[in-house]
Amino acid sequence: MDDEKASVVRDTDRVAGRLPARDHLIIRDGYVITMDPVVGDLPETDVLVSDGEILAIGKGLSAEGAYEISARGMIVLPGFVDTHWHLWNSFMRGLIGNRPGRDYFTVKRGLAPFYKPLDFYRAARLALAEAVTTIHNWDHNLRTPADADANIMAQFDMGAWPLLVWLPR
Ligand SMILES: [Zn+2]
Repeated sequence: MDDEKASVVRDTDRVAGRLPARDHLIIRDGYVITMDPVVGDLPETDVLVSDGEILAIGKGLSAEGAYEISARGMIVLPGFVDTHWHLWNSFMRGLIGNRPGRDYFTVKRGLAPFYKPLDFYRAARLALAEAVTTIHNWDHNLRTPADADANIMAQFDMGAWPLLVWLPR
C-alpha cells in the first residue's frame, strides 16, 4: 500500500493517537514489589502517580482530584523495565499454540514477510496498551527504515520510554 510507504504512519484519526491528560492517579492497595532489598515488598500499598511520574509510595495516600484504581489482589511494579519484548509479535496472540504448524517459529516465519510499517505501528501500540512504559523492544523483523520509524513512533505515541534494537533477520 502506497500510503504505508509514507514516512509518517500514525493513524491518529482511527485510534486514540494522543495520550490522555495525566492528572493524579492513585493505584490503591496493590502488592508493591520494589526490588529494593532494604525496602522489600509492600502489601496493600498505594502508588501515587502524577503526569506519569511516581510521586509517592505508601499506605493511605491521597491527592486532591486524583482518580483511583484498585490493585487489590494484584502486583504493582513501579519503575519496572521489560527488558525483552518483541512488540511486533503482539498480532500473533492467539495464533501460536501446541498444535502442528502453530508453533512460534512457524507462525512467525509465515507472517513476518507481510508486515508493513503500519502493521509495526499498530502491533507496538497494541502491546503497549498493557501499561508497561519502559521497554527494550527487540525487533527481528525490521526490513526498512520506515518499519523502524513506525515502531518508534508508536512507542512515543503511547508514552513509552523505548529502546529499539534492530536485529538482523
Ligand atoms: Zn525474544
